[in-house]
Amino acid sequence: MPELPEVETIRRQLAPRVVGRTIERVRVLDPLWCAPAAPRAVERRLSGRRIDALRRRGKYLIADLEGDRHLVMHLRMTGNLLWVAPEDDRAPRPHLRVRLVLDDGNLVLFVDQRRFGTGVVIDGSRRLEEYLAERVGPEPLDPGFTPEVLARAARGRRAPVKAFLLDQRRVAGVGNIYADEALFRAGIHPLRPAGRLRRAEIERLHTGIVAALERGIDRQGASIDDYRDANGERGSMQDEFLIHLRAGQPCIRCGRPVTKTVAGGRATYLCSRCQPAPRPRRRMSTR
Ligand SMILES: [Zn+2]
Repeated sequence: MPELPEVETIRRQLAPRVVGRTIERVRVLDPLWCAPAAPRAVERRLSGRRIDALRRRGKYLIADLEGDRHLVMHLRMTGNLLWVAPEDDRAPRPHLRVRLVLDDGNLVLFVDQRRFGTGVVIDGSRRLEEYLAERVGPEPLDPGFTPEVLARAARGRRAPVKAFLLDQRRVAGVGNIYADEALFRAGIHPLRPAGRLRRAEIERLHTGIVAALERGIDRQGASIDDYRDANGERGSMQDEFLIHLRAGQPCIRCGRPVTKTVAGGRATYLCSRCQPAPRPRRRMSTR
């Protein structure tokens, strides 16, 4: 599933090619993509509009169109956004859900095997901000994301820190891969309750989140399943995982075999020496 670094990679590749271009034609081939909106209505609202900016918020990719109209896309499990030159536009293309033709003849294709990806058209910046505010919390690569912001988000949370990181309303854009990587970097066990992390641990976690995401962007994302960048190429982050998917292999820090467990409902990888388990809570003395 694409996380922040994968979506950001696609954004950086697409932006110089689509910003300033006008969407000439749109074809929504799968009504599920924009449901409950009707495909023909969505096609009408997008066609003929210039793309003023391509932004990312958490795992959402947002095309700002002229006239304060916004196309908000989410890739979910297996969505890919491909930039294709007309000469490379060969039919049939499996799992094609949406096809945008730009005024220079190039195409942007939303390809998505499992069909969980979505596109929503929103009018007005204010409604867009409301839509996003309900769904995503602080943006971890923004300068405003400080250890204080993370501490505030974690305060009072009893959920395991892994589940806390996966919750998009707490920290935007972190998914299963980068949560594992961030927790290993920070030396924090994934089952520690988020609200019980000490100040020094919050600071290490903050550093770990930022470093893991930046590494992911640097390596153009992780292609462990369907993820491909806007050119259809694989990222290389999967070759540099510190802990994720390394079960049974020696920990890069201490050599102990990496353990696989479940946290936040997801397969989770950790080193039991470098990420000590939460202490069982001592029973209160009755005396
Ligand atoms: Zn270790």
